[in-house]
Amino acid sequence: MHEASLCQGLLDLVLETVDGAASQGKPVRRVTEIVCELGLFSCIEPVTLASCFELFAENTLASGAKLTIRKAPLDCRCQACGHTFTAHERFFSCPNCGGDNIHFDGGHGLMLLSLSVDTEDTEDTCDTHEAVETVDTEE
Ligand SMILES: [Zn+2]
Repeated sequence: MHEASLCQGLLDLVLETVDGAASQGKPVRRVTEIVCELGLFSCIEPVTLASCFELFAENTLASGAKLTIRKAPLDCRCQACGHTFTAHERFFSCPNCGGDNIHFDGGHGLMLLSLSVDTEDTEDTCDTHEAVETVDTEE
């Protein structure tokens, strides 16, 4: 199940970031918000990802954290006229010539952008920008 390995990968990354903050003298009580970017062409619904993540995060510092999932913009280049543009929707054509022969890279991954955390005395934000690796489960 792809969602599961992605959620596990995301959780690992979140907890690593929290550990990193703790080692810099910012002990984290809990994670309040997780912001990530999902590629336009990933076959995962944000809703599915969010509810799956909730299960994975149970009994960790990320339990109950709000998962905010944005769509990652995608850099595209029209093969017909050479126009470059950024796509924000899954279905697009060249804004210059209307062509649909578009070249692009990526658009599949999940990226962790930042975390909001509760530390001992204050709210804090950890900026990351790390790609989430899918974790191969034993199943
Ligand atoms: Zn074009």
